[in-house]
Amino acid sequence: MSTLSLTQLMIGGGLAALVAGLSYLFRLLSFSGAVAALVIGFLIFGFGGIGFAGPLLAFFFSCSLLSQVGRKRKERMNALYEKGSTRDAMQVFANGGIAALLAAVFPFLEAHRETVLMMAIASLAAVNADTWATEIGSLQRGSPWMVTTLRRVPAGTSGAVSWLGLLAALLGALFIGLVGVLTWPPRSIYILWQPEVPELLAVAWAGFLAALADSILGGSFQAQYRCLRCGALTERKTHCPDAPVRLGRGYRWMTNDLVNLIASLLGALFVWFLLAYFVYPA
Ligand SMILES: [Zn+2]
Repeated sequence: MSTLSLTQLMIGGGLAALVAGLSYLFRLLSFSGAVAALVIGFLIFGFGGIGFAGPLLAFFFSCSLLSQVGRKRKERMNALYEKGSTRDAMQVFANGGIAALLAAVFPFLEAHRETVLMMAIASLAAVNADTWATEIGSLQRGSPWMVTTLRRVPAGTSGAVSWLGLLAALLGALFIGLVGVLTWPPRSIYILWQPEVPELLAVAWAGFLAALADSILGGSFQAQYRCLRCGALTERKTHCPDAPVRLGRGYRWMTNDLVNLIASLLGALFVWFLLAYFVYPA
């Protein structure tokens, strides 16, 4: 029995258009990013409903707000990142694609709805943890260290972590878990029980561990280019104007977006594992 409702699809489509349109106006999203957000938002709001929508909106608005904090300092560091703060379609799909796929199958499921919803929340917890870690961690003075080698590296390097960033990741994952509990669909609709503290902790840990995995992948396999003029290692294919770059580390095809997509998938898989083996052991 499908619980897809025409009313929810129409409200979902309208809400997705509103969020995508406003985000484009306020330059949080590029045009392609807004189109991608419309697709993701329609699936999450229209197919998934409130249980998916709450965590997605919490992720989107908290990260947009945090990107405005300490903006001057971040703009200087942005030279090292692959992309700026206006998100494009690939970034939107990398962050919300897994949750949207889970939302798309959700109304057609006969069983295991709770698990699928928690997997979607954990995938958003993962990307939220990673974004909070980047946005808040970059405000810390002093150099961060590589998660893979523990060596000090310049702020903004992929795979670099700091204590403040790790704390922000943990809080970012917990925040999405809390919103997920608060917006969990009412019993009467299609879910029989409410998540409790063990489920919340499973989502938060899954999100945090997936964000750590994001840093490890970012510091090892992700493509990093060496600027041939100044020697900086960067995600970008151009650094100093008109100066060539060459691949300095990782694989060319392993972009920052792909790393984020893998982390969001890992968040979903980690929570499934934690639920199956620790929260509901057979
Ligand atoms: Zn350079």
